[in-house]
Amino acid sequence: MLSKRLERVARFVTGQKMADIGSDHAYLPIALVTDQVVKTAVAGEIVDGPYKAAVKNVESHGLSHKIAVRKGSGLEVIDDGEVDTITICGMGGPLIADILLSEPHKLKSAPRLILQSNIHTASVREALVKLGYTIIAEDIIKEKRHIYEIVVAEKQPEIMTLSAAEMKFGPILMTQNTAVFNEKWLREYNHLKQVENNIKDNPEQKVRLKEIQRELMLFKGVISD
Ligand code: SAM
Repeated sequence: MLSKRLERVARFVTGQKMADIGSDHAYLPIALVTDQVVKTAVAGEIVDGPYKAAVKNVESHGLSHKIAVRKGSGLEVIDDGEVDTITICGMGGPLIADILLSEPHKLKSAPRLILQSNIHTASVREALVKLGYTIIAEDIIKEKRHIYEIVVAEKQPEIMTLSAAEMKFGPILMTQNTAVFNEKWLREYNHLKQVENNIKDNPEQKVRLKEIQRELMLFKGVISD
């Protein structure tokens, strides 16, 4: 059974053939193929241990003819046009962004991207803007005290632009303003307020203070306390 986090990711998969990059045990592709959400899948993994675990898991589910487990870094395990959906989950935003930006030619056929980052999702949104993708859905969930964001993007005729606040909070998430969203950002707001208080009388921290105050401005109207 999938974790709540991966189950929420799975809800956004609509294609026929998907690739899960950084698949670890290949739980997500196994569930999607077993539930007939997709016909076939590629599970990509860079580290030997998780790669072997994925191969073993796929074999023990009798799915080796439908799920190709490939060892390699990021998008190098797929060809452009081979899949219509790519998931990258359970990593930091900057690593997900790096994986996408280092091989943009693998995205020419415009697969749907479902990206679940653990931290710094702004990096993911920045990468999507650079790649000419548009965010079509977002989700935020809490599981075992951790809060995760999911960003779903597709290529669309109009080019997406995001304000600084949309980049940070998510263009869709900030309009939904759910309890989990509010909890995440209220926590950061309180932390930044505390830092502001600690350094506001220190002349050596003037630049940092300006940065913190600029960051705090973005929260205006976004969270409720
Ligand atoms: N995607 C699974 C999930 O969400 O539960 C596993 C997440 S696990 C924390 C991250 C996995 O990504 C690890 O197995 C790691 O080896 C793999 N990984 C990290 N960088 C990678 C890269 N550049 N290419 C492929 N896999 C990578």
